[in-house]
Amino acid sequence: MNSLFLGRPINSQGEEHTQKAFGWAAKDNSGVLSPFHFTRRTNGDDDITLKIYYCGICHADLQITRDKFGLGLYPVVPGHEIVGIVTQVGCNVERFKIGDKVGVGCMVGSCRACESCQQELESYCPKLESTYTMFDDGTGKKHYGGYSDILVVNEHFAVRFPENMPLDAGAPLLCAGITIYSPMKYYGLDKSGMHLGVLGLGGLGHVAVRFAKAFGMKVTVISTSPNKKMEAIERLGADLFLVSKESDQLKAAVNTMDGIIDTGSAPHPIGPLIDLLKPQGKLVVVGAPEKSVELPLFPLLMGRKLVGGSAIGGMKETQEMIDFAGKHNIVADIEIISMDYLNTAMDRLARGDVKYRFVIDIANTLCEHCYGPTTKSKS
Ligand code: NAP
Ligand code: ZN
Ligand code: ZN
Repeated sequence: MNSLFLGRPINSQGEEHTQKAFGWAAKDNSGVLSPFHFTRRTNGDDDITLKIYYCGICHADLQITRDKFGLGLYPVVPGHEIVGIVTQVGCNVERFKIGDKVGVGCMVGSCRACESCQQELESYCPKLESTYTMFDDGTGKKHYGGYSDILVVNEHFAVRFPENMPLDAGAPLLCAGITIYSPMKYYGLDKSGMHLGVLGLGGLGHVAVRFAKAFGMKVTVISTSPNKKMEAIERLGADLFLVSKESDQLKAAVNTMDGIIDTGSAPHPIGPLIDLLKPQGKLVVVGAPEKSVELPLFPLLMGRKLVGGSAIGGMKETQEMIDFAGKHNIVADIEIISMDYLNTAMDRLARGDVKYRFVIDIANTLCEHCYGPTTKSKS
């Protein structure tokens, strides 16, 4: 006999009904991904099911599959920059219908009752459920991400995808886009004429340049890679480019920036960045290096400067971000890959060899019959 629990179908043993799903998973800290069969719940009353078309590869996917934070959460099906088409809707679903283009980012659940949830800041909910399990959220549930064929998600955690936005190049906005848009708004670093520094020209950083230019800001890229200068300025529209290891360049830019968004994925000194800020400037850290860095306090006091952090953003803001991006034609620069190139792409991402986001063409290249369930990646 079937019944419902929180709008989800369960059987007489109280177990959720499930359906088959297929994707690629890392099974140990080698991070090597290979085909993986698993189950997802069947579509509940508040859920939508989507056929996944594209999924971006965030640097966090690399860090979690290689267990850089020592959490050992295997098997991991990564992927939280997901774009697909709705194939099923539950009877309570109001915002989506079958055939809609839809995006899912880093979250698939939260308590919906705490102070953060009530302020529509679900990313700060203590019971946040990440799209694929990235930390021990205390629920005992295991979540599998977007390197897979289908996804079932409560409609609250999906966004409408702008009609004019390409599905592939728009996918990275579901994590990279909201991760930089939310702090720019919250910390007031979104005003025309302000000078913003963007540290790290990777997946997050290049999108930050595009949003900042759309806000009418002056943008300086601060990078470890001198070879990115031409592109930063000519292609992405940055105004200035500083090589972070060139102390003369940094010295000349001291006290010039209203804010800096730091997207660096590896540890780097914070002191020189604080020096680049004008008095009362704000350094916002969104990059998540595996090791902590030293924070010099005296320069903060002397300039009444602020160092803050930010993690993705709430669902309302994610919809606002992607609508803004649609209106201003902001997308990511991407390299589309097939599923069997995944492990090579991960190695290249680890070396910083991508401009600027890998996006997996899931719909055309994730093939259950091309690989047996135990077959390793061909790359
Ligand atoms: P990415 O595409 O690999 O880009 C990271 C960039 O960091 C690189 O392109 C590089 O830019 C710079 N970098 C690398 N090593 C560095 C070093 N030693 N010192 C200074 N800069 C360095 O990564 P991503 O996807 O943009 O993600 C960036 C970071 O944000 C990751 O740690 C990721 O886990 C984190 N993240 C956080 C959130 C959040 O909610 N806060 C969300 C998504 C991702 P240059 O070549 O220009 O130096
Ligand atoms: Zn991400
Ligand atoms: Zn909550």
